[in-house]
Amino acid sequence: MKKKGFIIAMDGPAGVGKSTIGQWVAKSLGYYFVNTGEMYRALTWKALEKKLDVSDEKKVVKLAHQIHWEFRPSSDGVTLKTFVDDVPVSAHIRDERVGAFSSQVASYPGVRKFFCKLQRILGKDGGVVMEGRDITTHVFPNADFKIYLDASVEERAKRRYHQLKAAGQDANWGKIKEAILKRDLGDLKRKINPLSFAKDAVLIDSTHMSRRAVAQKILKMVRHRRAKL
Ligand code: C5P
Repeated sequence: MKKKGFIIAMDGPAGVGKSTIGQWVAKSLGYYFVNTGEMYRALTWKALEKKLDVSDEKKVVKLAHQIHWEFRPSSDGVTLKTFVDDVPVSAHIRDERVGAFSSQVASYPGVRKFFCKLQRILGKDGGVVMEGRDITTHVFPNADFKIYLDASVEERAKRRYHQLKAAGQDANWGKIKEAILKRDLGDLKRKINPLSFAKDAVLIDSTHMSRRAVAQKILKMVRHRRAKL
């Protein structure tokens, strides 16, 4: 996999739009996009499928090593999609149950070490936008661009609420906000590689910005640097 270019690392809390924005940026630049949350969710999904006790750290770490992991480009060639033992997992990993357990699975040092190594292999050649919680601080601390995307929890809950409503699903703003806060807390308080703001990262507060405007801002920074090379 060789797509030469910058390494663009993005971190931020749950529901802030990292994935949509990251995909747009990657597409505009002809880069790959990697959503690292998908890996933690995929492992959680597989553990639940196998009826493994997800609180058994040793078993979950062992499972991560046993799985045959593949990351294949989507049909538009932008997103590297996670495959677990030949199964594309995207359709299975978005439900609340997987989301809730994935924070616990992501707190296991053996799991983080395993995925960090994989993520470094995927991104080392550059030409990649990678998003998660520890990409700017731990996976690629020397990335060419380090972005911390933030938004108020109220705004993030509002966006999620409208997404669910638009999809014809039941939604309760208060409950969504509570679930987001719970996940944020788990990510911020984690002992190993918690979500944190790297001193040299660019902070973008998108509370009052559209996702398009955020993507444009990032693209402007990248093109500006590219023009100087
Ligand atoms: O990004 P997403 O919300 O899909 O990630 C699922 C979970 O995986 C998060 O709640 C977080 O705990 C964990 N995660 C992580 N480190 C990353 C990406 C995700 O701990 N780099």
